Amino acid sequence: MQTMMGIDLGGTKIEIALVDAIQGVIYKDRVPTPQHAYNAILDAICALVDKTMGQQKIPLPQAIGIGIPGCLDPSTNRIRGSNTVVMNGKPLQQDLQHRLGCKVHLQNDANCLAVSEAVDGAAKGCPVVFAVIIGTGCGAGIAIDGKAWTGNNAIAGEWGHNPLPWPSAEEIQIAPCWCGQVGCQETWISGTAFAHDHARHTGERINGEQIIAKMRAGDLSAQESFARYVNRLARALASVMNVLDPDAIVLGGGMSNVDEIYQALPSEIIRYTFTKPIATPVLKAMHGDSSGVRGAAWLTK
Ligand SMILES: [Zn+2]
Repeated sequence: MQTMMGIDLGGTKIEIALVDAIQGVIYKDRVPTPQHAYNAILDAICALVDKTMGQQKIPLPQAIGIGIPGCLDPSTNRIRGSNTVVMNGKPLQQDLQHRLGCKVHLQNDANCLAVSEAVDGAAKGCPVVFAVIIGTGCGAGIAIDGKAWTGNNAIAGEWGHNPLPWPSAEEIQIAPCWCGQVGCQETWISGTAFAHDHARHTGERINGEQIIAKMRAGDLSAQESFARYVNRLARALASVMNVLDPDAIVLGGGMSNVDEIYQALPSEIIRYTFTKPIATPVLKAMHGDSSGVRGAAWLTK
């Protein structure tokens, strides 16, 4: 199989990789994202592709896969919902195809994670995979038979902007979300939300890593913050179980590195699913930071 080329176009960095179906990532490079200028983003992507071809002495591939925050609006073929806001409303796929001279596949970055982990990662061989990126925000993607499932309107996986289910009295005091709605799951289960919740309860403004360190040191308030977090994540995932019933759930992003989550989640999820027991494993993404770029490369197959 020919080497596949993938690009992860993130908010802070643009990463390129060559991926071999057997050996995995065989070449990687990255540059900072010029966040404030669309044309500079196009220039940076083209320069990375040229540099990769030159260094690896390979021809231009027939197709390149690119993972993006946000998605391609199927009605306009323009980007929408990206937190790199200069890309919104832009015909990124057409512009890159024109500049590069090859086919460009664009896909939401959480869908790329789902594909990467379904093809040869933690959920290898699972027919239906629900993957979540929990970091600054909270995105999700679905892979079916190793392919991204985007849906009829390209909103499949925008689960972070569903409301938190089975809310407590405290959680009904809902917070506005950047998307225009209120009380979205992202406002409760992102890494940012974890820190905000801890600050609300304790008055202590520390980040997620610091809360986890305190929890491991035996601090009671940090343990309670973590328990609230796991319970909310479990409710959000139980609603996925009741709709999609995937073969595996994979967690990526910063919060996915907290190993205690995997011990605590399963028994919390089954408190809320319609039937029990639940055989679906919740797994840590195997390829970590590389999942986005790997999944992008697999889009070309
Ligand atoms: Zn929202």
